[in-house]
Amino acid sequence: MSYVGIGYDSHRLGPGRRLVIGGVQIPYERGLEGHSDADVLAHAITDALLGAAGLGDIGEHFPDSDERWRDADSIALLGAVVAMVRARGLSLVNIDCTVLMQEPKLAPHRGAIKGRLAQALELEPERVNVKASTGEGIGFVGRGEGVAALAVASLV
Ligand code: MG
Repeated sequence: MSYVGIGYDSHRLGPGRRLVIGGVQIPYERGLEGHSDADVLAHAITDALLGAAGLGDIGEHFPDSDERWRDADSIALLGAVVAMVRARGLSLVNIDCTVLMQEPKLAPHRGAIKGRLAQALELEPERVNVKASTGEGIGFVGRGEGVAALAVASLV
């Protein structure tokens, strides 16, 4: 049997925050707001994995009302979900994802993000695909108000 799961997340961009995408801190004048480190890409991938494994969603496992997850490293949460998935006898085939962000450019950081995610997912980097798209100046992404991410996970 094989299973697929979808994940989506978005976070607002604001001052005085770090911009962490896929576990990599990207230099920028603003960062993502949220209870954890607000790593929008790690959250989308976490939800895709939970979806594929039939384990609900990230909010059920790591509620933002829980002080334990304040400023949490989302890559560590992703690692915890990878362990849950494996505990159910499932293994990851591949991850595909898209980051929707007007600026800064993701391209210079794509290799580092892929490497960080592959490590957390215990997958070969070739099985982790990271795409980027701008908002073409429209919508909340295009106006630079926030960043969104989409992910698909495949398990066997
Ligand atoms: Mg989130």
